[in-house]
Amino acid sequence: MTPASRDDGSAGSAGSAGSAGPVSGRDWARAVELISAADEIALACHVSPDGDALGSMLAVGLALRAAGKRVTASFGDRRFSVPRLLRFLPGQELLADPAHYPAAPEVMVTFDVPTVGRLGVLTGNTVKANELVVLDHHPSNTGFGTLNLVDPDAAATAVLAEELIHRLGLPIDKDIATCLYVGLVTDTGSFRHSSTTPEAHAMAARLLDTGLDPEKISRELWDRSPFGYLKVLGVVLGRVRLEPEVGGGLVWTFVTRADRAAYGLPYDEVEGMIDVIRRTDEADVATILKEDDDGVWQVSMRSKGGVDVSRVSVALGGGGHAKAAGFTSHQPVEETIASLRALL
Ligand code: AMP
Ligand code: MN
Ligand code: MN
Repeated sequence: MTPASRDDGSAGSAGSAGSAGPVSGRDWARAVELISAADEIALACHVSPDGDALGSMLAVGLALRAAGKRVTASFGDRRFSVPRLLRFLPGQELLADPAHYPAAPEVMVTFDVPTVGRLGVLTGNTVKANELVVLDHHPSNTGFGTLNLVDPDAAATAVLAEELIHRLGLPIDKDIATCLYVGLVTDTGSFRHSSTTPEAHAMAARLLDTGLDPEKISRELWDRSPFGYLKVLGVVLGRVRLEPEVGGGLVWTFVTRADRAAYGLPYDEVEGMIDVIRRTDEADVATILKEDDDGVWQVSMRSKGGVDVSRVSVALGGGGHAKAAGFTSHQPVEETIASLRALL
């Protein structure tokens, strides 16, 4: 099924690098040409992958493998490990440790990656890639590919991944649809965010048509965690701070590696905590600082719309969207919060 808005020749971007608006028919045709001609395709998504990054990548990987291509898929975390809550995704067998990733891929495709540095240890592999196709929806995308399929209006990279598979003329089975659906539901916040458009629901309907199990997917993504999660959440909520005078109100907290170690909680389990913090009525901006196992802080920011948190995150070396953004910090908590306050 091809909605009219997807027709080739739709009003498109000329150069495509980070430009606003839909991807041009010419750029889609070029992507199809490059990928169809290659025997081996190397896929990569951003470090600490979320549902959209991993889901989009595995969806395209499964479609390409079914079409007879040799596919390697990875992400550049120093300690390569699929986040526990995404291990139910089909296509895990396509994943390889970055150590086994092609050094000079014929065609490399990136998913949900706004800046080349978000490829982590795979950043260098882009340099020797003959063609680098960038599939993304971040407005902050720098256009680091040889071909940039970037649509900031897309609710998720999964929207672009579905279109790519469609334009390659490949079928979307239940497993591929599951991967795409995970990308769509995670990035729309279960159809709660402003990205919840008629197109997003139409895509969900197409995917549900394949017979995927939405109940199982939402349970895996949002309705389960080890007992330690509750204990760490208790600690994290116990130290939450509200600063009504900063921006339109700032609510923030942090989770250290020691907090997690006390309850044996892996880093990737704390991802959802921001969704508890951001419900605070008195604050427009919510922030959580999460210390990884190497002592590096990943900072997650959410806004209700009064403040563009991607502006703040970009200023601090990160990226993201107006209402959901993040950055990495090597400073102690108080110093990071001070920098953030100054920008709000
Ligand atoms: P998160 O808070 O990790 O869910 O991320 C929210 C948004 O910010 C996503 O679109 C991420 O791609 C982006 N983002 C988060 N952390 C970083 C970072 N360190 N550098 C660039 N973008 C980031
Ligand atoms: Mn992402
Ligand atoms: Mn995304």
